[in-house]
Amino acid sequence: MAQKVFSGFRPTGKQHIGNYLGAIQNWITLQDNYDCVYCVVDIHALTTIESTKNLREDIHDMVLDWLASGIDPEKSIIFVQSHVPQVMELSTLFGMLTSLSWLLRVPTFKEKVKLQPQNVNFGLVGYPVLMAADIALYKGEVVPVGEDQLPHIELAREIVRRFNSLFGNVFPEPQGKLTSSPLILGLDGVQKMSKSCDNQIEITASPQEILKRVMSAVTDPSRRYRKDPGHPEICNIFSLHKIFTDTAKVEEISSECINAGIGCVDCKKLLAGNIAASFEPFRERRALLASKPEYVKDVLASGANRAQSIAIKTMDEVRDAIGLLPRIVT
Ligand code: SF4
Repeated sequence: MAQKVFSGFRPTGKQHIGNYLGAIQNWITLQDNYDCVYCVVDIHALTTIESTKNLREDIHDMVLDWLASGIDPEKSIIFVQSHVPQVMELSTLFGMLTSLSWLLRVPTFKEKVKLQPQNVNFGLVGYPVLMAADIALYKGEVVPVGEDQLPHIELAREIVRRFNSLFGNVFPEPQGKLTSSPLILGLDGVQKMSKSCDNQIEITASPQEILKRVMSAVTDPSRRYRKDPGHPEICNIFSLHKIFTDTAKVEEISSECINAGIGCVDCKKLLAGNIAASFEPFRERRALLASKPEYVKDVLASGANRAQSIAIKTMDEVRDAIGLLPRIVT
């Protein structure tokens, strides 16, 4: 039997190349060797978002991008967290086993407190408990994560271990699987690519939009004039060339940049063309899927049904293990 992978993503709308290279590409590969459950974690998003005005549209856009990229609903379960309410039930039960001091020590909680001191809500501190419930509800064994998520996985393991030691072996201990993709910086060349920093290139962007975005990117700040020699090793445009341009050309760009043989404008135009070409098949598939208005809805409905049948079974085991009264089915 293949191991179970669980992974969740906040509904951030149209995906950018950082999302694609950091998560989506990895998810596509995992589908061939694991039973994958991919979840839009809309409840998690409520811990930080200020408005839910665009929530539905963001979920739709994000899932459409996943599907057009190659996340296959025949192979993987794709669903929205809030469509399977058993996760809230398990989260509440896990909350009884989780020490508050564990939660207060989580580095991302401390960061969030600094970022939104006016809104340190209960959901924010309980975030890792809900995350543990997300994983455990589907008996997730492998969780693809970035380095910053490792403390959450460690906490999920602690919670699962405590449950199993108190009530019997219901859950596997999830293992974090670090993604090998490089950190993708945004167009500012400083911060991680993200929509909130407005430094992203969306994978749905047209070639013209990609060109416009790339032309606005920060390069080597010491190269002020065309005749100045550049330092490709500190230029984010060059980092992106390493991903989107063939190796021989990357070496040529490096030496031409160092010798001032190529200007940043031409270098950027080349990169923009390569990014646009790389996502052309994706854009075509996305346009095709977007022409079927019910498609995303149908995929999410089927995913929710499949996820819920697993969740109901897990919660029956949980109730039985704890000694709660069995669910009454009439
Ligand atoms: S030529 Fe290219 S690699 Fe060199 S500094 Fe300009 S944009 Fe960066």
